Amino acid sequence: MSLTTNVHELTREHLVHTPAGRLETVPALLDQLDAAAGETRAGSNGGGGDGTPSPISLDVVALQQDIEREAWANQGELIPSFKGTLKQVIQSWAVESINGEWMAYLEHITLDWIDKIRAITEPAKPPRKLHRPCPACGVLYGGDEHKPGLLLHCWADDGALLPPGQWTAECIHCEAAWAGGELGWLSRALNTETEGINA
Ligand SMILES: [Zn+2]
Repeated sequence: MSLTTNVHELTREHLVHTPAGRLETVPALLDQLDAAAGETRAGSNGGGGDGTPSPISLDVVALQQDIEREAWANQGELIPSFKGTLKQVIQSWAVESINGEWMAYLEHITLDWIDKIRAITEPAKPPRKLHRPCPACGVLYGGDEHKPGLLLHCWADDGALLPPGQWTAECIHCEAAWAGGELGWLSRALNTETEGINA
């Protein structure tokens, strides 16, 4: 990605490919981060219920502060007299004539912000819990935390649904694992309904 692209995604509505392959307009990443922080402050994003912020909400606020501080520190060296909002600061990097070294540096830090914001707004999807007794060990819920043991890994790193041939399953209690054609066997063993793991 170029600095121009990074600036665009951070500060303006932009198009993204959805996991289903469609193009969709999404808000500026800085606005998405603000929204995540707003949810945090409203207490809907975890927390202890006693006003204690959850670790994730502290991350959101810390990231906002880091971006703000880093952006203005750089702007102080680049264009000391600049006045404006955080978005205007970042947008100015894409239009001002900036030398190559600065451009490479700003490209690096803006990409770093994008990665960190996406990690908050698009967390990796967790594996599906099958809530069935494991055909290998027979445990449905086990361990200290009484967790369901059978997990189906069906999501790619980018959140897209993998083709069923690439799905894997495992039992976290006995460490049995299934892949590829074995999932068909697992599915029959579990006698699950047709939705889900019947490849
Ligand atoms: Zn098992």
